[in-house]
Order: sequence, then structure tokens, then C-alpha cells
Amino acid sequence: MTDVLIVGAGPAGLLLASELRLAGVDTVVVERHAQRPGFCRGFNLNAPRPGPAGTARSR
Ligand SMILES: Cc1cc2nc3c(=O)[nH]c(=O)nc-3n(C[C@H](O)[C@H](O)[C@H](O)COP(=O)(O)OP(=O)(O)OC[C@H]3O[C@@H](n4cnc5c(N)ncnc54)[C@H](O)[C@@H]3O)c2cc1C
Repeated sequence: MTDVLIVGAGPAGLLLASELRLAGVDTVVVERHAQRPGFCRGFNLNAPRPGPAGTARSR
């Protein structure tokens, strides 16, 4: 029986699935697109911008 269902095979979903699998959690990933996108969305690494009082912001 599946313990966790992850919706979306983007970087977040696939990383979470990998970590859960390494921890022995049975995981299924579902993705609405049957094919990979025809373009790359990872041309460069975007460093987080510093936020108030030096905290990092995700956006
Ligand atoms: C044009 C473009 C260029 C970019 N370039 C860069 C870059 O150069 N460097 C960089 O660091 N970042 C870049 N990004 C940002 C990067 O792509 C995102 O930060 C990253 O993809 C987010 O990952 P995620 O897993 O959160 O979401 P996503 O990658 O969006 O993955 C979510 C997945 O869930 C699926 N999904 C959604 N709803 C459902 C549903 N109901 N059922 C099944 N599946 C579903 C989607 O099809 C998708 O595959 C770019 C983004 C865009 C749009």
C-alpha cells in the first residue's frame, strides 16, 4: 500500500519522492504531462536574495 502520493514531477516533487524512498516510505508520483516539456527551465542557479535582517527569502 502507498504511504504518500505526490502530485507533480517537478524538482520539488521528485526530490521529496527520493528522500521519502531513501527513508523507506512507499511513494507514488503522479504527473499530468505525459511528456517532458520541450524547453529547459534550468539555465542558471538563482541565489536567494537577502531579506530583512539578513534572512533569506525564497522569492
Ligand atoms: C520559463 C522558465 C524558466 C526558468 N528558468 C530557471 C532557471 O534558469 N533557473 C532556476 O533555478 N529556475 C528557473 N525557473 C524556475 C523553476 O523552473 C522553478 O522554480 C521550479 O520548476 C519549481 O519546481 P516545483 O517542483 O516547485 O514546480 P514545477 O517545476 O512547476 O513542477 C510542478 C509539476 O506538477 C505538475 N502538476 C501540477 N498540477 C498537477 C495536477 N493537478 N496533477 C498532476 N500534476 C500536476 C506540473 O505539470 C509540473 O510538472 C524557470 C521557470 C520558468 C517558467
